[in-house]
Amino acid sequence: MSTFTTAITAEWLADKTNKFKAYNISPDALAMINRSEALKADMRAYAASDYTVAARVNPKTDAGEYSTPMSKDIPGYLHIASNRFNTPEGTVSILAHELGHFRVEEPNAAIATVRANALTGKDKAAYESACHLTEGYAHYNEVKVRDEILETNRLAAELEQRPLTEQEVQLESRWRGEGVYSSRGEGQDHLIARRIADAAREEPGHMTATQVMEAAAFALAQNNRGNITSNTRQTYGQFCEAAASSMLPGAAPAQATGEAQRMPQTPSKEPSPTEDLSAFLDRMLSADDATFRRMQQTLADLPPGREVIAEGIEEVNRQEQWVAQQQAQAQQPAMNAPVMVMRH
Ligand SMILES: [Zn+2]
Repeated sequence: MSTFTTAITAEWLADKTNKFKAYNISPDALAMINRSEALKADMRAYAASDYTVAARVNPKTDAGEYSTPMSKDIPGYLHIASNRFNTPEGTVSILAHELGHFRVEEPNAAIATVRANALTGKDKAAYESACHLTEGYAHYNEVKVRDEILETNRLAAELEQRPLTEQEVQLESRWRGEGVYSSRGEGQDHLIARRIADAAREEPGHMTATQVMEAAAFALAQNNRGNITSNTRQTYGQFCEAAASSMLPGAAPAQATGEAQRMPQTPSKEPSPTEDLSAFLDRMLSADDATFRRMQQTLADLPPGREVIAEGIEEVNRQEQWVAQQQAQAQQPAMNAPVMVMRH
């Protein structure tokens, strides 16, 4: 079922209408990008989207952002500092991350739907959860892209009947979180996603591929809460709380409305997915079917997971939500500016 996306070429990037033209993507970085089907497809999708315009260079060193689209008139755009393109590894990671945001932030996509519902319902906790979950998806996309590159590296070495180069071995250690790299960002993210995928694989039939992805995005979002944004220098915990407060200034604080939803009713012996997802998943994946279904529902009922599962809702429903979002924008003066800027 796999489909192959046309390679990203220097000629394509250099075209005067190309949306990535502002970025200095080296030939080595290009070669690495073309080792990931997901990243190629993400770049082609961004280029083809009606809701994005040309990527811009962020003047602030290290900054990486995706400014989310509000409509075709207020489109989204990548806003990345030029030093993030200094190495091929840095290039693929920042593109995978920010394009990961782009994928879930398009008007009909998962996070846009969560956010629209949160705004319509004036639900600050749900809004804050969406802020965290979009980061989870961005991190998940990074992991996916890096894993694909490592797999392609192995395949290429096999075809050429040679061992991995020293550089490829190094890259594998870092990206797969071996040894000292297990506690570093990239390695840590890989291990979080793999643990869930492995657990799901050991218990076939319990989780769909989509649920595994959702669980991984949720876990990566939880793990990201203490990380520092690349430009506001707040933790994501602080950043998402401030974003929710500025978007829903009149609503009750997230803590007051959110705790009941965040702490679903579970028997006291059962681990809480928000406190310890690993323990929760371990328990969930080894439970009998009835318990598993109940725990899966608990996961689905969490503010981030609840609406993401609604990814499959009918188009008509989506249209209604989009209209509601437009109306919410029209009613709230605070929404006039393209306010939602995601930080790396
Ligand atoms: Zn981000």
